[in-house]
Amino acid sequence: MQGLMMNYPLTITSILDHGYRVFPKKEVISILPDKSRHVYTYTDLYKRSKKLMYALQLKFNVQPGDMIGTFAWNHFQHLELYYGIPGAGAVCHTINIRLSASQTEFIVNNAEDRIIFIDATLVPFFEKIAALLPTVEAFILLNAPKGFVTSLPNTIDYEDFIADAPDNNDWVKVDENDACAMCYTSGTTGLPKGVLYSHRSTWLHAVVLCLPNYACLTSQDRILVGVPQFHVMAWGVPFGAVLSGAVLILPSSHLQPEPFIKMIIEERANKANGVPTIWQGIYAALKKMGPIDSFPLKTFLVGGATAGPTMIENFQRDFGIEAIHAWGMTETSPVGTLSRLQPEHDSLSDAEKIKIRALQGQEVPCVEIRIIKEDGTIAERDGKTVGEIEIKGAWVINSYYKTISHENFSEDGWFKTGDVGIINKDGYMQITDRTKDLIKSGGEWISSVALEVAIMAHPKVKEASVIAIPDEVWTERPLAVIVLKDENEKLSMEELNSFLLPTFAKYQLPEKLSFIQEIPKTSVGKFDKKEMRKLYAEGKL
Ligand code: AMP
Repeated sequence: MQGLMMNYPLTITSILDHGYRVFPKKEVISILPDKSRHVYTYTDLYKRSKKLMYALQLKFNVQPGDMIGTFAWNHFQHLELYYGIPGAGAVCHTINIRLSASQTEFIVNNAEDRIIFIDATLVPFFEKIAALLPTVEAFILLNAPKGFVTSLPNTIDYEDFIADAPDNNDWVKVDENDACAMCYTSGTTGLPKGVLYSHRSTWLHAVVLCLPNYACLTSQDRILVGVPQFHVMAWGVPFGAVLSGAVLILPSSHLQPEPFIKMIIEERANKANGVPTIWQGIYAALKKMGPIDSFPLKTFLVGGATAGPTMIENFQRDFGIEAIHAWGMTETSPVGTLSRLQPEHDSLSDAEKIKIRALQGQEVPCVEIRIIKEDGTIAERDGKTVGEIEIKGAWVINSYYKTISHENFSEDGWFKTGDVGIINKDGYMQITDRTKDLIKSGGEWISSVALEVAIMAHPKVKEASVIAIPDEVWTERPLAVIVLKDENEKLSMEELNSFLLPTFAKYQLPEKLSFIQEIPKTSVGKFDKKEMRKLYAEGKL
């Protein structure tokens, strides 16, 4: 027997409708690419998103299911695209601005984007590939100064595009399971693959993000979005914030520590999100600046790569700022797990608490994880049995866009993450490595992630990454690629290994050190191990 409740579709536009009805005066603050400050309200966001929807329909006959690309920084116009494109029933395809020209060409053609909304500062990149994109009918320019000249074909200024459109037409009716947005995976391995989010999955993810046990977004908050809007929809924060009535602060391209800190202070941001690299820079800059009276930031969400206990402890001890560690993937919208202390941890020492907070954490509601051992069976939650993490849930990918890839899914339908880890008896997951990054030395596993985290805690080390290098006797051995804080310093193998020895077995210590000026990173700022392995093979490490 079915329940007797209304069928109220969980659509993206219902998030904006709610924000407009309940929090019409809440602000969206953007620091634009030219550093100017732009402020408007949820009412403006709502009305302009409706204008955008209408302009898409009228000027390009955009139909439900059409792909519309964005190539833009974090700002109010990008937010309007998040709502106005799905409002027309189309799919908001956020294109990563950090990929190579050939990857971008592949992605746009694979998605069959009809229109691309592009920031004027990013135009030169697209000019080089525009001729190779047969499906793209027009480029709509964001933040273009008067008299802006470009060789892109069929350009329209965004403000002109929406100027005459009415702001009160109805959103296009869609099914909650229809697609609303798409991101391609970062391509750490192989060609990028499209992940197609539905209205329902995005809506549910946003609601859970708001819950107090998770990102705890409320109408009291002023949230600085440090995750690019082109990366997994900025972790869903632009949707969760509008649902909960928080002030949104959008920093465009200004993610370097100094402007980021300035924004926190001037815009009184009490919450933020970002990858560990951003927070490492902010910590160092804050240390240099010395004590700041009533620094507004109280808590931030960090994920996308391991946030080690050192970072979490440093922020807590030196600035009383709570770093909340979360784990997820493009394929999981992204939040899968998140680490917060529970009441039973109250009696633990500070050091023990930090250790728990540095784990990747517990499943969020509507998501389940399990560990699959090498023999294909499910591991106990015993805190020591290692295996690949599999995940299922309301916002977890079911299939890649236009791609059948059985190797990514188990026979019973779970998504194989390619991450390797353990789950303890309290359900806290810890990533120990990624499948391709495990180092197998003499038949024993070495966790390159654990080594990286430990090496980065050494006072002379700024950044470190560990890769496997071939070894005749042991098959593989770990190579530590290190960036020193001070280039003139020396760090010997003996000094580093005696620092590591209390935590690691002897066979787990790096075999070799290589010092470089900067660790190669992927487009989203992660250590690019594929590139490092290539450099090593070429004798450059
Ligand atoms: P992406 O799809 O580019 O966001 O990358 C997802 C991958 O990033 C995951 O499969 C993990 O390997 C890694 N990752 C994300 N969050 C964390 C975290 N908190 N700790 C360790 N690795 C993470």
